[in-house]
Amino acid sequence: QAKEHGKNKYHVFHTGMNMQSYRSFLMQNDLWKAIERDELELVYQPRVDVVTGKVECAEALLRWNHPSWGAVSPAEFIPLAEQTGQIVEIGDWVFRTACQQLKHWEENGYNSIRLSINFSAQQFMQKDLPSRLKRSIMETNVSANRLEIELTESALVKNEEFIINTLREIKEMGITISIDDFGTGYSSLQYLSRLPINILKIDKSFVHGITDETNENRLITSTIISLAKSLNLSVVAEGVETKEQLEFLSLHHCDEVQGYLFSPPVKQEPFEKMFLQEKDMVFDVKVQHENRI
Ligand code: C2E
Ligand code: MG
Ligand code: MG
Ligand code: MG
Repeated sequence: QAKEHGKNKYHVFHTGMNMQSYRSFLMQNDLWKAIERDELELVYQPRVDVVTGKVECAEALLRWNHPSWGAVSPAEFIPLAEQTGQIVEIGDWVFRTACQQLKHWEENGYNSIRLSINFSAQQFMQKDLPSRLKRSIMETNVSANRLEIELTESALVKNEEFIINTLREIKEMGITISIDDFGTGYSSLQYLSRLPINILKIDKSFVHGITDETNENRLITSTIISLAKSLNLSVVAEGVETKEQLEFLSLHHCDEVQGYLFSPPVKQEPFEKMFLQEKDMVFDVKVQHENRI
């Protein structure tokens, strides 16, 4: 009987593997048509200033609304798009669409908002990336100094000189540069201090552990904040879900926070409403929790 059980298990596992790679294959196929079929969409998550409690920035996050699978996560399809090179076309679409959105906001009275855009490692290795970005900025006539680029720490560790030069060119255009998921990669402090960057974003895996008294994530998080300060960088915490996490971050002088505690990523219109409310979201959260029974 045990043998039979084992066989079944093997069968399920094996079929599962095939299903997974078959799904990837179908996805890569459909991804070529996603842009012309208008299936890609950007959603926006507010980033809140810890001191003023105001929405300062929006992070643009990509969504793929597939006709039969529904919403496919960028965590699933971006790696597939990197394998086939589709990331170049998708990355251009994301950047252009984000610029158009920011231009729309500039023209409609939301003119202090900043917009941050994620870039994949592969995309960053394109030799002509700075000129591609310049083209979109010129075509949409948007202010580059309200655009921000997020690059994950793990994308930085290969071809260091090339990365530094590309970052420098992009920074010279007026764009802000932030290191996403900081703490999960392996960049050396010496390298970090040479990078022309502006912001460190603490990965949500550290943020989630900070309210546990014995958790080393508290130490890691406060150390990243002091590190950022001593390098003259701003620091943003992602994945903030509880009032306790917010309080720890605020106590340690984190500059901006982002997470479900304030809002999940939302479509353009609800984002605009949130921005216009001009309320102190940090204060609001604290009061809400204090009134809880
Ligand atoms: P990321 O840039 O680190 O984005 C943060 C992710 O955490 C997002 O997932 C966001 O929806 C989610 N998140 C936000 N607040 C919370 C929270 O309080 N708790 C938890 N548990 N999660 C939270 P999403 O949108 O699924 O994106 C996943 C990753 O895909 C992003 O991680 C980014 O690396 C990549 N990505 C997203 N959009 C793009 C894009 O336009 N281009 C590229 N190249 N990559 C993208
Ligand atoms: Mg990001
Ligand atoms: Mg991140
Ligand atoms: Mg992350």
